[in-house]
Amino acid sequence: MIINLNNLKLPPNQAQDLHFEQRGSAELLESWGGKFKQPFVVDGILLFDGKNYLVQGSVHTQVELGCSRCLKPVTYTVNADFSALLIKESLQDEADLVDEDVVVYTGGMADLTPLIEGIIVSEIPMSLLCSEDCKGLCAICGSNLNTKDCGCREDNIDPRWEKLKQLT
Ligand SMILES: [Zn+2]
Ligand SMILES: [Zn+2]
Repeated sequence: MIINLNNLKLPPNQAQDLHFEQRGSAELLESWGGKFKQPFVVDGILLFDGKNYLVQGSVHTQVELGCSRCLKPVTYTVNADFSALLIKESLQDEADLVDEDVVVYTGGMADLTPLIEGIIVSEIPMSLLCSEDCKGLCAICGSNLNTKDCGCREDNIDPRWEKLKQLT
């Protein structure tokens, strides 16, 4: 996702449409045990104020992650807006002065991939469930309690209750 600013003859205060589609890197979601289900799509505009470029847009993709309780694959849709200032490397000091996200570029080539990947990662929830009432995995035998009742819990009843049961 590289914008070649050299070939861009964008007059000041004009905008240009941007559209990118890119396959997400597998390593990005590996630590979540997740993967991309489709390429990520970026739609937006590029603005030039006469000195710096500003990119504004949205990123959309679908990722597959394991349910936090039972590990079943769950599809999660990422839809996020973003904006970032593109700053020439020689003017990098200015990057510290702005609140916005910044992409520093050299040689007129601005690579938005790290920015977009960072946005996707920040959109992924820490905890994702296949359904609100997911029963998760049995702590003893590891069975998925949504699909089968392994019976481990009964064996685990407090022995004092077990005595009571025998009395009845
Ligand atoms: Zn689940
Ligand atoms: Zn069990």
